[in-house]
Amino acid sequence: MERESLEMDVVFVGAGPANLSGALHLAQLVRQHNEEVAAGARQGTPLGEIEIGVIEKGTTVGAHILSGAVMDPRGLAELIPDFVEQGAPLESPVKEDYFLYLTKNRAIRSPITPPPLKNHGYYIVSLNRLTAWLGEKCEAAGVNIFPEFPGAELLYDKNDCVVGVRTGDKGIDREGKRKANFEPGVDLRAKLTVLGEGPRGSLTKQLTERQGLDEGNEPQVYSIGVKELWELPDDRYPAGRVTHTLGFPSDSRTYGGGWIYGMQNRILNIGYVTGLDYEDPLLDPHAEFQRFKTHPYVSRLLDGGKMIRYGAKTIAAGGFFAMPRMYGDGFLLVGDCAGFLNSQRLKGIHSAIKSGMLAAKTIFEALLANDFSAKQLQRYEMLVNDSWIIPELRKVRNFHAGFRNGRWAGLVNAGLQFVTGGRAWGLLDRARAEPGHEAMKKLSSFGYRGDNLEQRYDGLRFDGKVTFNKVTDVYHAAVGHDEDQPVHLHVLDTNICATRCAEEYGNPCQRFCPAAVYEMVEGGNGQRHLQINFSNCVHCKTCDIMDPYQIINWVTPEGGGGPDYKGM
Ligand code: SF4
Repeated sequence: MERESLEMDVVFVGAGPANLSGALHLAQLVRQHNEEVAAGARQGTPLGEIEIGVIEKGTTVGAHILSGAVMDPRGLAELIPDFVEQGAPLESPVKEDYFLYLTKNRAIRSPITPPPLKNHGYYIVSLNRLTAWLGEKCEAAGVNIFPEFPGAELLYDKNDCVVGVRTGDKGIDREGKRKANFEPGVDLRAKLTVLGEGPRGSLTKQLTERQGLDEGNEPQVYSIGVKELWELPDDRYPAGRVTHTLGFPSDSRTYGGGWIYGMQNRILNIGYVTGLDYEDPLLDPHAEFQRFKTHPYVSRLLDGGKMIRYGAKTIAAGGFFAMPRMYGDGFLLVGDCAGFLNSQRLKGIHSAIKSGMLAAKTIFEALLANDFSAKQLQRYEMLVNDSWIIPELRKVRNFHAGFRNGRWAGLVNAGLQFVTGGRAWGLLDRARAEPGHEAMKKLSSFGYRGDNLEQRYDGLRFDGKVTFNKVTDVYHAAVGHDEDQPVHLHVLDTNICATRCAEEYGNPCQRFCPAAVYEMVEGGNGQRHLQINFSNCVHCKTCDIMDPYQIINWVTPEGGGGPDYKGM
């Protein structure tokens, strides 16, 4: 097949905050260098025109970007010191912090807000809007942005050096045949490829397996955040108020908590995080969130309001010991791809931006040296280690691992690590972690009967006012995929579904997917089989992470498919 090939200097895969910051900062460094050399203020030769490209699978920059989010502005202030004056889309500075413990019927306000959840000096943002704004800054600086270009596979040379990325083909039908509008993907050849795909990136996963980037690490663990935006009828929850909750509805063995943030124009940003290392195969993160909203404190807040947007996304919560090798011949990893998120503070935007900037500095030096080998790019790891990112992550290096033994043990561990500078249980430098899917137990361990898989959520009703079923919620994620394309969720062995998985786990994909993609249905022969409603997919990656047999492989669908997280 004839493919177009484009030569670039640097290609960034994924238009998230880390990559956009990296692309912008690189353009700034190159321009400054060229100007200073031309003016005689710096020795050396000008770098000339450096072609920087950012590819993005969504229709626009920000379309697939979803986060809480309260942003620590430290990273953005380094990238664009006058970001406020330049009109960064900030919803509100944080004005009040609340921390609540929820029992079934009561909300108990903690007299003190735990230090990691103090947000004074930070901003409530829509990460969708912030990344769209960063995208505009990139374009103004001469960066080429290619929306609707999913990275389908990495390109390698004969020495296994990454030499670019192939984007996905367009116009292939469900059976894999070319349609009239067929367009082959493009080979973007680059001296350096930067992966900023977010958590569980599909190319990062392939590269990690191929080059053993996670050797010697603890396994990465993830959480999923499920979120809605609500329009409130009055000013009952002001912009700038931040509430975090613990307790209801999570059981004490499951890592979870809620957030409620006040945005401008009476918009309430509400969501719930569930650790993707839960044990109960009947747990459903979307249902946990719906149940959270039935708490009297929360439902009162929502009373008379209108749900307007929905989304779900995973975060990489493993922290310091789960960070992969973040460089190699021809590539770098930034942001959530490299696990820079601080799960104790529930914050990663600041470190994503910083990692992008450090990648840019590394790339700039590599361009000057005309050397894109792992030896040269190791400089990135040194810069990361010398930055404020690592001290921040080291202090909480055993935070998530502490919750393996349940909520109360996790809180005790969090308190002890606060005193000991990050040691687990006040003693261990490094606690062992296990991949989340291995934590899931079988139905029989819980004494569940296989004929009633709804029993965990007995009593939860989707009333269409406060609580919504997945299909209604997905409608509010504005998801779109061309139905006539190959399914982008590859289940490697569907024979397991109706037999072993049904018996052992009760087909948990039907529950852990927050978008009703997976459904066990009766076939004409009276047998049940898996139906994949792939067009609902919000690209959260939970299935790739949480499937107990690890036989679901998420790959990029045709460019432009997926949610549209406007304002999220
Ligand atoms: Fe998330 Fe997988 Fe469901 Fe898509 S199919 S929404 S990636 S869990």
